[in-house]
Amino acid sequence: MSIEKIEDRVYLKSSLLDNSDITHFFTTKAGGYSTGKISGLNLGFRVGDEHETVRKNYMQISQDFDIPFERIIAAKQTHSDFVRIVTDEEAGFGVERLEKTFESDGLVTNCMNLPIMVFYADCVPILMFDQSAGVVAAVHSGWRGTVSKIAEKAVLVMQQKFGASPGNIKAAIGPSIGKCCFETGKEVACNFEKDLVCDLNNGKFKVDLWEANKRILLNSGLLAQNIDVLRMCTMCHSDLLYSYRVDGDKTGRMGALIMIKNRMPKD
Ligand SMILES: [Zn+2]
Repeated sequence: MSIEKIEDRVYLKSSLLDNSDITHFFTTKAGGYSTGKISGLNLGFRVGDEHETVRKNYMQISQDFDIPFERIIAAKQTHSDFVRIVTDEEAGFGVERLEKTFESDGLVTNCMNLPIMVFYADCVPILMFDQSAGVVAAVHSGWRGTVSKIAEKAVLVMQQKFGASPGNIKAAIGPSIGKCCFETGKEVACNFEKDLVCDLNNGKFKVDLWEANKRILLNSGLLAQNIDVLRMCTMCHSDLLYSYRVDGDKTGRMGALIMIKNRMPKD
């Protein structure tokens, strides 16, 4: 993991995805214009923040990474396993064209200069790209998304619709709630393989969503050396990261964004 500080903003990046053909980053709450309980760089339009303030936060991240603000696409996330392909036609959906919101928990594109983003605040954000196929994906995989294997579905879309090969796909599993903090009841824990669950012997369990998602990607054909787990727990680092569990329902939202900036080689 690398940390990029731009004035008072702090961004997290995966060294594995560090490539001149793409831009990617995970935002934190550092910097930004939001105030009060969600003070910082909130990117969620539906958490009680002023619309214009959230817009300014988007303009700030766009300026920091030289990405086209008006083209950022973000869907309404519903903890589904639905992955949608987006093109230039959907540019701005869910952000500058907020009214054009659609529901999806995974976005895939091969379009240049089309930033795709998923929101996170405990749930697991996953960014992927295949350089030779020229395709990127952003996935929101909370515990429900993990159980329904949305990451596998995103890999399949990259493969079947864009000719990606799992052996070439690089993936970053971003900041999210770690097994240190993800305490659940049996109804959640029972959905996971036994070795991913720690029984606290008080009716509560701790579940390792990072390893669960890594395993899904491995089973989809990704190579271990092409999966980067950032190992940054949102709850342990709630000073830097919004955490749904720490802050409650109306916590701010961070973004995991990826964009193709140069035409990738087709071999
Ligand atoms: Zn933790």
